[in-house]
Amino acid sequence: MTYSGYGSLAVVIPVYNEEAVVREFHARLSATLDGIECLRTTVVYVNDGSNDHTLGILLALRQQDPRIAIVNLSRNFGKEIALSAGLDHADADAVIVIDADLQDPPELIPEFLRLWQAGNDVVYGQRVSRRGETRLKKATAYLFYRVIQSLSRVHIPEDTGDFRLLSRRAVEALRSLREQHRYMKGLFSWIGYSQVALRYERAPRSAGASKFNYPRLWAFALEGITSFSITPLKIATYVGLLIAALAFIGAALVFYKALVYGDPVRGYPSLMVANLFLSGVQLIGIGVLGEYLGRMFNESKNRPLYFVDEHIPAGRADEPRTLAIIVPDAGSTTGLDHEARPAVRIGGGS
Ligand code: UDP
Ligand code: MG
Repeated sequence: MTYSGYGSLAVVIPVYNEEAVVREFHARLSATLDGIECLRTTVVYVNDGSNDHTLGILLALRQQDPRIAIVNLSRNFGKEIALSAGLDHADADAVIVIDADLQDPPELIPEFLRLWQAGNDVVYGQRVSRRGETRLKKATAYLFYRVIQSLSRVHIPEDTGDFRLLSRRAVEALRSLREQHRYMKGLFSWIGYSQVALRYERAPRSAGASKFNYPRLWAFALEGITSFSITPLKIATYVGLLIAALAFIGAALVFYKALVYGDPVRGYPSLMVANLFLSGVQLIGIGVLGEYLGRMFNESKNRPLYFVDEHIPAGRADEPRTLAIIVPDAGSTTGLDHEARPAVRIGGGS
């Protein structure tokens, strides 16, 4: 199948300590891209401060495949920011975002392109099933999507990852969002435009380990909720109102009882219960406030999202696909004046 007229395509891959899979990933990606006809294809690897051999492997791959561009970040900034750095360095009509661990099959890219050609600005991959994940993970993921859905006005489709295609204007919209606290799944939805799901089976990780453990997922969930909803703040207000109303009724009852029956000194247990309960509610309220305040503090510093240590752009379009050095071996010739000279054997010994 050919896609003539596709203009330019870029693939963005955030990578952090992926030495175990990145070669295999690129082999599969590159085989897929070879079958897609378009004017210019760029593969942007964002090295998110890996401390293994990922960067070396990427540089070696870049020698063989000039479609590769490498954005080497100055340290580990986390996936969301690495992804944003990739989008900042991807200049194409359509940009595909994909993980390096082969959970998202690169072979689906032509499907994404087809749905984009059909007039969609965002095509997002949606997992058909979460096979291979623990019950606890499934249950917490389910709960999280329900909570965020009921709290936020933006529709964040469930069971979606970052595997998706974005049109040029969708990428431009995302680039204009520079907040530090970036819940990308939410931002992808927030920009709007026509969005469509592409359902697929998500494979288990091909090698290496996931970088997301439970504490990190909790932080991630909190990020999602606080950056897409101020409902928790409103809940604090309404809980406060409700308790104040109950206290008012309670006060009236106490007043009435004191008038009718007098006021012997009693009521230590009820006093303690009321006191502890109210302190708890107040602390929760302050905590919720703190979550938002902390985020405002971070945003108000207005720092750049990331720093780039080095950016190696993709090779020119007119550069040969492979920069192979032609090494003549026995029987072959050096080319030019091969009639005049015998073949040169490299490392032949004689
Ligand atoms: N990743 C990254 N920076 C990080 C953590 C992860 O760039 O700090 C990349 C990682 O290399 C992979 C993708 O983000 O390409 C998804 O990570 P992972 O597979 O660990 O997440 P999971 O699939 O378990 O949610
Ligand atoms: Mg993964």
